[in-house]
Parts: sequence; C-alpha cells; structure tokens
Amino acid sequence: MSELSDLYQEVILDHNKNPRNWGHIDNCSNHSEGFNPLCGDHIDLFLNVEGKTIKDVKFEANGCAISKASASIMSALIKGKNFEEVKALYDEFHQIVTHGCEDHEPTEINLEVFCGVKEYPTRVKCATLAWHTLVDALNKV
Ligand code: ZN
Repeated sequence: MSELSDLYQEVILDHNKNPRNWGHIDNCSNHSEGFNPLCGDHIDLFLNVEGKTIKDVKFEANGCAISKASASIMSALIKGKNFEEVKALYDEFHQIVTHGCEDHEPTEINLEVFCGVKEYPTRVKCATLAWHTLVDALNKV
C-alpha cells in the first residue's frame, strides 16, 4: 500500500510542479475566484463555455501542493466535457474526498490520488477548493 501512496504523492508533486492549463484566458465566458482561509489557498479559474461544453479552462493558483494539484487535475479532467459529465466528475470527486474509495472504484486514475484525503480533514478543503470554484464559475453562466 505504501508504494501506492508514493505513486499518488508523485502525481500530486508532478501536477504541483507542472500544473496543466496554467494561465488565464482573455475574454473568458466564466471566471471565479476561490479562497480557502484555513490554508491560504487561492485560485483564479477561467472558463470558455460554449453551449453546455467547457471548451477551454485555465487557472492560476497560490497555495499548498494539494490545492494546486487538485486544480490542475480538475482542469485536465473537465476540458472538453459537457455540464452533465462535469457534474458527474464533481459528484465522484466529492464522494472520494469525503468517503474514500472503499465502496467506490474511481473511474479516473487521477481521482484515485485523492482516495486518502479524507484521513486529513484539513486537507479536504484544499482538495475541494478548485471544484467549488468551478461550480461557482458555472453558476455564473
Ligand atoms: Zn491547502
């Protein structure tokens, strides 16, 4: 099991060091900012939504490795997806960080990384920040 944990740690460190979809979008259709005062994590999320599909996503973030990696992983997962698919990913992610993976086999390897987060309640808010910011941005459609 500890080998698996090392793998997950590597995934998180990789996304933290080389975040996917980093930057901002000029004239984006949706923007939202998220802040986690418990840890000091901050994210700026930019979306280009066409119809009900997320055509493009970029973000900039300051904060801990988990919050940045979670934002990076989320951006990679939601790009090109429609709202229904994004909602399913959000629900799955939420289930994983609050209940772990004993009763649930993650559909994406990048979601599996978060299976252990529920053991660290203060980290749950770090991991969910990007997703809450996403919901907020989409509610501004
Ligand atoms: Zn954090």
